[in-house]
Amino acid sequence: MCYAIPGQLIEIRENGGGVVDYFGEKRNILLDLSDAAVGDYVYAQGGILVRKISTEEALEILSLWKDKFFELKKMDERLSHFSESDLPANTLQILQKVNLKKPLSRQDMLALLKLEDPRELKVLYELANHIRHREHDNASCIHGIIEFSNHCRENCHYCGIRSDRVVKRYRMSVDEIIEVAQHAVDEYGFKALVLQSGEDPWYDEKKLVKIVSTLRAMGILVFLSIGMRDKELYQKLYQAGARAALLRFETSNEDIFRQLRPGASLHERLTLIKQLKSMGYIIATGFIAGLPDETPEDIVNNILLTQSLGPDMYSFGPLIPAIDTPLAAQSKLSIDAMLKIIALTRFVDPDSNILVTTALETLDASAKKIALLAGANSMMINVTPMEYRVFYQIYDNRADRNQTVKVGIQSALDLLYSLGRAPTDIGVVEATLTS
Ligand code: SAM
Ligand code: SF4
Repeated sequence: MCYAIPGQLIEIRENGGGVVDYFGEKRNILLDLSDAAVGDYVYAQGGILVRKISTEEALEILSLWKDKFFELKKMDERLSHFSESDLPANTLQILQKVNLKKPLSRQDMLALLKLEDPRELKVLYELANHIRHREHDNASCIHGIIEFSNHCRENCHYCGIRSDRVVKRYRMSVDEIIEVAQHAVDEYGFKALVLQSGEDPWYDEKKLVKIVSTLRAMGILVFLSIGMRDKELYQKLYQAGARAALLRFETSNEDIFRQLRPGASLHERLTLIKQLKSMGYIIATGFIAGLPDETPEDIVNNILLTQSLGPDMYSFGPLIPAIDTPLAAQSKLSIDAMLKIIALTRFVDPDSNILVTTALETLDASAKKIALLAGANSMMINVTPMEYRVFYQIYDNRADRNQTVKVGIQSALDLLYSLGRAPTDIGVVEATLTS
């Protein structure tokens, strides 16, 4: 099954970047580890060229896609209109600023976060979707995720696999991880895989280098989500071929951070995120929304702090209170509270990539669709073997707990197509190419 469209490399720049064309849509990419030349057909993921493919094969895939691509584009265009009729003057003024590409003040952001009227929210989400379309057209990106270990040395108060919690622990062996990844690439066509785990030093440099280099050789983007490991280890893993890292700072509020992550420091976490970026990693970062004592000002600070880190992808989701954790009794955010954060992020950082997280989907079964219509443009599909997935309980009743990989892919594709989105690459922000 093919669900990432190849593109043609039409430009190579001196800064290590290039431009890929998808039926006339241009995306910036990093050329990284490739001998590709202008005119070659390539696969890109997360804005990184991951593999060349033969012209013959590419043209065959593209001929199957051509009509569908333009049909999807038209549908997305239709669904991306917004109308600002009947809005109160204050909201109208702020949304007009957004539409005219003027920066929002903190007060504007707070005012939008406080909106409750369904008619105003509808326009807010429509405008966010309109801007997503303006910046990315109908491109969307799907990554796979393998949760390879639920052992963790940390004890974060929100997390269901924290070290104090009694859960059945598992570790996938190096060979098992490689086998699962190979299957995801060969059988399902994944071009990017996130490797996620608790903070588990059992996976030392030797094991992780072997995993990363083997996966990179499969022609995919290797995306790490392994927590606060040493900077030197991340450096070695970059050399081995890892190119993206997902590391949330969790909250911009130092007091909340200190309470919820005993023994850890927000400053150290932010320092590591910045170091990873300067090593060349594509960065996905963000926060958990709905933590105890969090204020609307914290949410605004969370969005602005994420933006200041220059991420290629925003990854934030609601707290899902996990049983037997200190936050088990915390109340959940509403879906509108989350959609407002997505829309606001799209306004603040128009060309950003915004992930729809499993936590959001767990909050509300229809969340994926409504989030994609409120400014989000990226998704992940769980490819962890079922026998382990049930034990990766960072919270309970995860939306993807019973979903096979095949069903996950099919429902993601059905959803994208129903919204007129094409699974092309989303490209990287220009800043990544020049930094
Ligand atoms: N251990 C690594 C780390 O902490 O960066 C990666 C795995 S950790 C499970 C991935 C993310 O899960 C964390 O960054 C955190 O934001 C999120 N998470 C943990 N518990 C959660 C909960 N109960 N609800 C929502 N998100 C949660
Ligand atoms: Fe461990 Fe990550 Fe969970 Fe914290 S959030 S307990 S570091 S798995």
